[in-house]
Amino acid sequence: MNAMRTLALLGATGSIGATTLDVVARHPDRFRVAAIAAHRNVAGMLAACRACRPSLAALLDPVAARDLAAAVRAEGLPVEVLAGDDGLLAVAECAEADTVLAAIVGAAGLAPTLAAARAGKRILLANKEALVVGGALFMEAAAAGHATLLPIDSEHNAIFQCLPAAYARDPQARGVRRLLLTASGGPFLDRPIDTLHDVTPAEACAHPNWSMGRKISVDSATMMNKGLELIEAERLFGVAEPRLDVVIHRQSIVHSLVEYVDGSMLAQLGNPDMRTPIAQALAHPARIDSGAAMLDLVACGRLDFVAPDLERFPCLALARAALRAGPSAPIVLNAANEVAVDAFLRGQIGFTGIARGVADVLDATSLPPIGSLADALACDAEARRAARALLRLPADSATLSLAA
Ligand code: NAD
Ligand code: MG
Repeated sequence: MNAMRTLALLGATGSIGATTLDVVARHPDRFRVAAIAAHRNVAGMLAACRACRPSLAALLDPVAARDLAAAVRAEGLPVEVLAGDDGLLAVAECAEADTVLAAIVGAAGLAPTLAAARAGKRILLANKEALVVGGALFMEAAAAGHATLLPIDSEHNAIFQCLPAAYARDPQARGVRRLLLTASGGPFLDRPIDTLHDVTPAEACAHPNWSMGRKISVDSATMMNKGLELIEAERLFGVAEPRLDVVIHRQSIVHSLVEYVDGSMLAQLGNPDMRTPIAQALAHPARIDSGAAMLDLVACGRLDFVAPDLERFPCLALARAALRAGPSAPIVLNAANEVAVDAFLRGQIGFTGIARGVADVLDATSLPPIGSLADALACDAEARRAARALLRLPADSATLSLAA
């Protein structure tokens, strides 16, 4: 008999949320969805309410929450609907749920993910920006709350699978020498660099290997995604920046690697399908069918690895420098990137303006010490203000268009 796990899904209507629901639906004997949350997607939430019959559903947007409440009432679904930040927190802390999927996009996910950590949940972490902004404070809160962190990001999930079970964030004690994160290189790996300035949002969102939300797709095209993942890896695995490397692997079959002092290198391989890392984290330490196709090595034929070109991908160097300068520089980097990506998706700045904007904000912003989460949030807010001013954006574009 498998113990039943009960889930709360933060970001239930997004790419990771929907993929998680796909895996969960294959195992009704193992998983029940007790609570779901999203930004303002009423149709997506209603569909999830019909499919999973959660006890609780929350939308950040109060108008959307009212519409959802009316819709579930009209259908006679026994779902309590909440709104606003308190609604998100209620989902994150939901007593019925032992496991929380953190799949909100951006720093907006920090508060509810932190609430789940303090409540001692098993956290399936996709929301890398929450970890980049929360930093060591987030890791300390998770340890104090006896929360368990299971990475969903495919690279970190691969590394987690290649580390010993009793790793406990101590690379030296376990003979871990280096972590190698693989990167596909995104849609512009071969595009002439001097044409990158007129890339459109549609081109930037057309990832060759993965189907994802718009923000992470743009981050993959600039490789800021890999930069954020370096920071995520430092936090999750306690490996310092000089021992974190990135290698371009355009096939996205090797999802990342761990190098040991004896010369062994362990890798996790699989088709690029987020159902695999999600199923691994959902069922850990058991293994379940994810719905992903099995990898056919002969059909793959070859696996290529090259070093990243930092002229093509300046965001990678910016993120690495921010990680070295921490703890406020990664917060500034992330905030500036969120504002710049949003502006790019709205057609307000060009593609190469993203890296330039992030670099300018990092240059112009003083880096305050971070002693508390309030400090982190203040630093985030100040960096967003600086980014909007430097990118000459109207003050009201604070509202992220990234959120669906
Ligand atoms: P997405 O844009 O498809 O979905 C985002 C979800 O978050 C939606 O449900 C949206 O309603 C919700 N949301 C957005 N802003 C919110 C807010 N302020 N309050 C409450 N809910 C809010 O994004 P995604 O691709 O699913 O990515 C989610 C996270 O997972 C990101 O941090 C991303 O970096 C990470 N991730 C995604 C993938 C992937 O394959 N999509 C892979 C690795 C990591
Ligand atoms: Mg990733």
